[in-house]
Amino acid sequence: MFDAVVIGAGAAGLAAGARLYRAGRKVAVLEAAGRIGGRAFTDTAAFGVAWDRGCHWLHSASVNPLRKLADELGFIYLQRGSRQARDTHLGDRWATVDERNAVWAAIGGVFEAVKRAGDEGRDVAASEVMDRSTPWLRLTRHWLSLMSAADAERLSTLDFAAYTDTGENYPVEKGYGALVAAVANAAAPDLAVTLDCPVTRLDWSGAGIAADTPHGTVRARVAILAVPTSVVANGHIDFAPALPVDLAEAFAALPLGAAEKVAFHFDRDVFGPASTDYCDTIDLRHPTRAPINFTLHPFGHPMAIGQLAGENAAELVAAGPAAMVDFGLSALVDAFGSDLRAHIAGTATTAWVTDPLIGGAYSCALPGLAHMRARLSQSLDDKVLFAGEAVSTHAYSTAHGAHLSGLAAADTALALLGRPA
Ligand SMILES: Cc1cc2nc3c(=O)[nH]c(=O)nc-3n(C[C@H](O)[C@H](O)[C@H](O)COP(=O)(O)OP(=O)(O)OC[C@H]3O[C@@H](n4cnc5c(N)ncnc54)[C@H](O)[C@@H]3O)c2cc1C
Repeated sequence: MFDAVVIGAGAAGLAAGARLYRAGRKVAVLEAAGRIGGRAFTDTAAFGVAWDRGCHWLHSASVNPLRKLADELGFIYLQRGSRQARDTHLGDRWATVDERNAVWAAIGGVFEAVKRAGDEGRDVAASEVMDRSTPWLRLTRHWLSLMSAADAERLSTLDFAAYTDTGENYPVEKGYGALVAAVANAAAPDLAVTLDCPVTRLDWSGAGIAADTPHGTVRARVAILAVPTSVVANGHIDFAPALPVDLAEAFAALPLGAAEKVAFHFDRDVFGPASTDYCDTIDLRHPTRAPINFTLHPFGHPMAIGQLAGENAAELVAAGPAAMVDFGLSALVDAFGSDLRAHIAGTATTAWVTDPLIGGAYSCALPGLAHMRARLSQSLDDKVLFAGEAVSTHAYSTAHGAHLSGLAAADTALALLGRPA
């Protein structure tokens, strides 16, 4: 019998497991995938260069505990305020300075309008309060979807406003996924994570809990469930007894939307000397073509990493890696010329939205349902606690929000374990 079982070894589960382990508790960490990290995943295999398939920016860096840990562990990041594009390509030319300023005013204006509605206590779809008359609507929608992974029609203004954003988004050179793994290792080097061990059923009917896996049943006094909301909402874990209705509704109210990346590795620098440059695209010639934005030449590597979001991202995942590469490449060729085709050394694409262990990018409350996020901070009968980015009320959708939620769940578990049986 364990004191605690942690289900899921993403940023939240790793933080929870490490804290429990350091407190001297007998803890089992069960991870369905063959690796730790979940959406914190630095890929070095594809190109021999670190690039993040999931989280990459230390958001709200000055209040982000992982930033402090990055300093302690020697992880280098760029101290840059904003991810604002240096340049915007319009399909057949670069935007003028005035146009670029207009683009960013429009994007800033949408963020402000959605936040204002939420600050006023209105829980409606972002699409209801955003300026739909701007000529830059496709880009404003794209950026709103990048922030939330949801299209504006499925994005709660109240939830959006609850997010704390200091405006500091610092990219991590060796990868945020690598940082999350290093943080867990530094906190509890001997913490064992059982990989390839999906929990298929969680029985919370008895005195403790029993977690069924293909390798047997793990029993513990408490469980910390640190899997994405979509995993629960899609019924991948069988609860016995079934989850109370309000809890099941909360998981369903906070779906993971789509945000994906398409990465290009070149055999030489094709973008010029500027390192870690950002560029947006919006094709004014084709009103239905979706925008894509890129990080170019990240930390001096000959790469471009395109970011896709919302419905367009989900459709490109469904269409397959070749379609996603084509989509990204055509925007790059428009902007930088077709010569770069000859220098492509490799490509890689993500498919978070169809990964059955994840089910999307990050959580965002559906319109009218922002209040449901708080439900995930309450335990299930003092036996099952919830952790993960979706549990964080002010840093949801982020790696540091996940990390903090894992620490909080571990503290609650320790308090419960300290009670007389
Ligand atoms: C494309 C993309 C870009 C992002 N960019 C940023 C960024 O720049 N900055 C930022 O802060 N955040 C970013 N995020 C979000 C960030 O990565 C996540 O919020 C965070 O990593 C989530 O951590 P978590 O522990 O809550 O969940 P996860 O990382 O999803 O971990 C959950 C774990 O549970 C496991 N699991 C699932 N089902 C089971 C089961 N039945 N049994 C056992 N284990 C199971 C999964 O395999 C997974 O490892 C991004 C995400 C994506 C997808």
